[in-house]
Amino acid sequence: MTQMLDVLRGLRSITATPGRGCTRIAYTHYEDQAHDYVWERLRDVPGLRRVHDAAGNMFVVPEAPVTAGHPHVLIGSHLDTVIEGGWLDGSLGVVAAMHVLSQRVGLGADVSLVVFRDEEGVRFNTGLFGSKVFAGRCQPTDLDATDGDGVRVRDVVPDPAGCRDYRPPVDPSVFLECHIEQGARLVTREKRVGMVTAIVGIRRFALIGTGSANHAGTTDMLRREDALVPVAEIVGRLPTLVEGIEDAVITCGRLSVQPGAPNVIPGRVTAIVEMRAQDESTLDTIEQRLRGLVDQARGSRAAEVELQPSVVVPSAPTDPEVQACLEAVLATRSIPFDRLASMAGHDTQQAGQRCAAGMFFIPSIDGVSHNPAEDSRYEDVELAGDIMLAWAEACLARCS
Ligand SMILES: [Zn+2]
Repeated sequence: MTQMLDVLRGLRSITATPGRGCTRIAYTHYEDQAHDYVWERLRDVPGLRRVHDAAGNMFVVPEAPVTAGHPHVLIGSHLDTVIEGGWLDGSLGVVAAMHVLSQRVGLGADVSLVVFRDEEGVRFNTGLFGSKVFAGRCQPTDLDATDGDGVRVRDVVPDPAGCRDYRPPVDPSVFLECHIEQGARLVTREKRVGMVTAIVGIRRFALIGTGSANHAGTTDMLRREDALVPVAEIVGRLPTLVEGIEDAVITCGRLSVQPGAPNVIPGRVTAIVEMRAQDESTLDTIEQRLRGLVDQARGSRAAEVELQPSVVVPSAPTDPEVQACLEAVLATRSIPFDRLASMAGHDTQQAGQRCAAGMFFIPSIDGVSHNPAEDSRYEDVELAGDIMLAWAEACLARCS
């Protein structure tokens, strides 16, 4: 068993749900324990020390002070998980970064590791919290988010004021992350690495139907104003809006029908529609198509229908120079790779607000993730460590 697999298995055993995948919810004993385990496995590497920032993000940095103006590479990911999640989501990126640190002994004080807190956002219904603090973008509302027991983020972070007025323990020029793909594109295309060109932008809308609740038996079909009918027609056609567009998806994952009784015609319906795509112009196109559908439905039915924007997360392109370094590494080693957008959010999109940032994926078997069955081939896990090391060195060479 290689060192990386050994550490990953050690992390897998730290879970609130033994036998049912990894459950390490943010700011719980389990996340703390995973952070400590990583440091335990690194503490024998000479020349490193551990520091925490205001959010409780853990950094493993060179003991010698980092020279200002000198290029510095930061690598890492997260160790919190969803409930009954997989063993590689987040952990892979941390363990690949540990591999780089342990290989760079004596090669100069130019690489640090970070483990971000609360990437998944399960507990406080947020996400990317630790990396958002690192990016210097933490808002009071982020600290006031509460969990199911009424505990606020500001109650669990080491230094709430420091999250707003943030000073990072290191000032990197580049951030690099590797992660499992969590989808099936690499497996389908028979590629071993996915070079992430951008992390998708997300737009959510409330599609609201307004009609008139009435008796489902006595109201004849010509007289009713059923709020669900136009909404259901639009939802049924959502897949056509992204036809022919690569790396774009659209979903209605929440539908509320009021008053919600089998014998009452729906008077008000709210459907949440979410679209994701790799750049803003593609999102504009899909949004335009959606508005077209709504316009069509409006007027053709007795009930009214309207679209209200709710959440907007801009797409985050990765740094072209950092991509070029990765491409050179992959080309030299003749590793089959593809360029793709990340369809899920990642710490890289926040870190990219502080410094140049880039990311790559290795394949997920059958595209399964956020599930105990999540897995990748062992040779791909090891490849992730090797690429991470070569990429960090290529970035440093390019920066200096
Ligand atoms: Zn993750």
